[in-house]
Formats: sequence, structure tokens, C-alpha cells
Amino acid sequence: DISFNGKTAIVTGAASGIGYEIATALAASGATVIASDLKQEDADKTVKAITEAGGTAHGFAGDVSDPESVEALVAFAEEKTGALHMLVNNAGISGPAAKTGEYPVDGWRSVIDVNLNGVFYGCRYAIPAMKRAGGGSIVNMASILGSVGFASSGAYVAAKHAVVGLTKSAALEHAEDNIRVNALAPGFIKTPLLEGNLDNATQSFLEGQAAQNRMGTPEEVANLTLFLLSDKASFITGSYHLADGGYTAH
Ligand code: NAD
Repeated sequence: DISFNGKTAIVTGAASGIGYEIATALAASGATVIASDLKQEDADKTVKAITEAGGTAHGFAGDVSDPESVEALVAFAEEKTGALHMLVNNAGISGPAAKTGEYPVDGWRSVIDVNLNGVFYGCRYAIPAMKRAGGGSIVNMASILGSVGFASSGAYVAAKHAVVGLTKSAALEHAEDNIRVNALAPGFIKTPLLEGNLDNATQSFLEGQAAQNRMGTPEEVANLTLFLLSDKASFITGSYHLADGGYTAH
């Protein structure tokens, strides 16, 4: 029973999968949500779902790999609602599947640009806004692949490990500003990102690797995200939180 009444949250990658669930769950708990994604029409679909359920949201078309776009996103949030209290750096891509010795260099750059640089830009521009608001909470969407390797996904694995490092440093630096920064590590979650990149046999194999013998749902990731964003997590900062059905337990 978390309430975010009177608080504003930005969610990037809010049109699909995990980001959509987080955006709608935040709005259902009283937050005003800035739902951002690459295309306005996609962001607006999330806004429509939130509005129809009685919540408040605004759509913003932006690219997290472009620092000017992320700066404009934060300015939009402050302009629409007066203050920014929460940020979920969720937008991410999987990138090409290839071994490191064959990995396409442009593919490497795109994955690092979205999955790592995008998280940095989010923190870079949201933190000053949160300071103006008197404090805040950031959740950076990492992955279990932020602590273990995965073949043919070097760029993704490297970016997610780096997100965990950035999270720890930002938490150390900005505790004095009343800002908490945490990394969330989903295991394998049934979303368009996963289903578009792994064939059925690989998906079944990965399900079998989790203690619970299944994939997670976007709702199960949203539940942990809302907890970390909320005041109930007031002593939790700079840490890495798994929601993986026991995938990394062995
Ligand atoms: P998804 O593909 O369903 O949704 C990602 C969203 O991000 C899409 O709406 C897409 O348009 C948006 N996006 C992509 N590039 C963007 C950019 N440059 N700027 C703004 N928006 C952009 O994916 P998902 O599975 O919901 O993944 C969400 C996050 O969770 C990602 O960071 C992903 O790495 C992470 N994650 C997913 C899983 C999983 O199994 N699905 C596991 C661990 C971590």
C-alpha cells in the first residue's frame, strides 16, 4: 500500500514490457507519470491507459541515448508538474547476438549508448531537478546480466555491469542530497524484448535454469521497482536488487 500522491515520476521505455507496467503501477499508486519512449504515439498509448484507469500522465517522445533529449525530458517533467521526485531509467535494447571476437562495432556502440549512456544522462539531468525538489529516488534497470556473463551478449552484459557501478557511485555522492539510487536486476522476464531475441528452445532452457522453473512477469519487476522508489525503502541505496526467480542462486 504505497502512495505516491503529489509525486512525479519519469519512466523511460514506458511504451512496452517492464516500463509499461511500472508506469501504470506508479500512476495507480497516485504518482503523476511522465511516460517517455522513442515515438510520441507509443508514449501516448501508455498515457491513454493510465488516464482511462483514472490516473495522471503525460507522454514525451525522447531518445535516452541523446543527452539533449534527456535534458528536455527532465525540463518537461518540471514544467508540467512543478517538481521531479522519481526516475526509472528503464529503456533498453538487447543488441546483436555475436561472440566478442565477431561482435559488430556499431552494434556495440548502440547498446552502450542506450543501456549505459542513457542511464548516465538520466541521472545527470534528473539529479539537479531532484535537488530542487528536496530529494528523490532513482531506479536504474540493470539485469542479472549486471553480475554474471551471458554468451553472445557482451555489449549488453558490459553495459549492465557498468550501470551497477554508476548506481553505487551516484548513491555515495548524492545521499547528502536526500537522493537514493538503486539498481534492479530482473531475471528473464516475458516481454517483447526477450521474445523477439530468444527462440522457443532457448526460452525453455532459461526457464529451467531458474529455481522457480519459469520466467517472471513485468508486474513482478514493477512491484520491486515501486518498493525501491518509495519511502519504505528509506535505508536502501547504492545496492543491487534481484528479481530473478532464483536464476542466479546457483
Ligand atoms: P521492451 O523492448 O519490451 O521495452 C523497452 C522499451 O524501451 C521499448 O518501448 C522501446 O521503444 C524503448 N526504447 C528502446 N530504446 C530507446 C531509446 N533509445 N530511448 C527511449 N526509449 C527506448 O523491453 P523490456 O524487456 O521491458 O526491458 C526493459 C528494461 O529491462 C531494459 O533496460 C532491459 O535491458 C531490462 N531487462 C529486461 C529483461 C527481460 O528479460 N525482459 C531482463 C533483465 C533486464
